[in-house]
Amino acid sequence: MIVLLQKGAPQDQVDTVINVIEKRGMQPVNMPGEENIAIGITSFISPEVRYPLADTLLALPGVFHVVHVSRPYKLASREFHKVQTVVKVRGVEIGGPNCVVIAGPCAVESEEQIYESARVVKAAGAKLLRGGAFKPRTSPYSFQGLQQEGLDLLKQVGRDIDIATVTEVVDPNDVETVCAYVDMLQIGARNMQNFALLIAAGRSGHPVLLKRGPSATLDEYLNAAEYLLHHGASNVVLCERGVHPLDRTYTRNTLDINAIPVLKDISHLPVIADPSHGIGHAKFVPNIARAAIAAGADGVIIEVHPCPQEAMSDGQQSLTPDAFGTLMHSLKRVAASVDRTVD
Ligand code: PEP
Ligand code: MN
Repeated sequence: MIVLLQKGAPQDQVDTVINVIEKRGMQPVNMPGEENIAIGITSFISPEVRYPLADTLLALPGVFHVVHVSRPYKLASREFHKVQTVVKVRGVEIGGPNCVVIAGPCAVESEEQIYESARVVKAAGAKLLRGGAFKPRTSPYSFQGLQQEGLDLLKQVGRDIDIATVTEVVDPNDVETVCAYVDMLQIGARNMQNFALLIAAGRSGHPVLLKRGPSATLDEYLNAAEYLLHHGASNVVLCERGVHPLDRTYTRNTLDINAIPVLKDISHLPVIADPSHGIGHAKFVPNIARAAIAAGADGVIIEVHPCPQEAMSDGQQSLTPDAFGTLMHSLKRVAASVDRTVD
């Protein structure tokens, strides 16, 4: 529920609304917006309480409207939070007019590999370096990531090459440690509904890149984002990374392009796309990256490896440094065509 007061309403009128809400054991939340003063209630309100409460609030001086929020999530919804959120990660803004490119290898493999990756993606214009230290793999026999050594390398490379870093965290008990090594946490598709992980990541207050689960509906996805926001995160970026495909013969997943404008409409959180996991083959990644920017994405995350054929994970979908450089040029042109930039 959102209670709207006239712009410029005196503080005692605002306080009265807050008191009425608090007296019923609910938590009022100040909602940013320019047109009116808006006070939200995030908790579930049963119909028996909702309608009499709305009548009581509407009778208060200064209150001119009460909106019943129809979505199952509140903090993540644009209904509740009209102003577009711009997430800041070590000085990089995601969600503003500039589309942000995050790039790097699937996994951190060695000092040489991550330094070379950081240099080439930064030189081509990427603003964040990606690289997994903990890799959630379908098979327990596949490379699981360098783990602590990977975190050490990410910290060093972020400092030495001066680039913001993002890495996946898979265990709630590791959240605090991972926060000490990188600028942004990634919650992977497989963990989108790992509620203990969402709560720990939310409590950390660190920026979070939340990937959509491959079979999650948009409401399930935004409820996962709601967990992060409810537990204290304010810098949350959504990432569409492909849903289960009808046919795996030619593509790994199906990047749900539809989800991009829809998420931007129903949520205030920035939305980026991951065409690498979305289509799963390097030769098609540039087309889908351009499609995502054209569809309104606030950025893309691209897997780039200095030598894809030697990659320990996801080499088949990783771009070479040259292919990434070419993609960056074309992304700038596509962004300009939808009144955005890639700078
Ligand atoms: C990744 O980013 O390398 C990754 C494992 O992604 P996802 O969680 O989307 O599969
Ligand atoms: Mn990967």
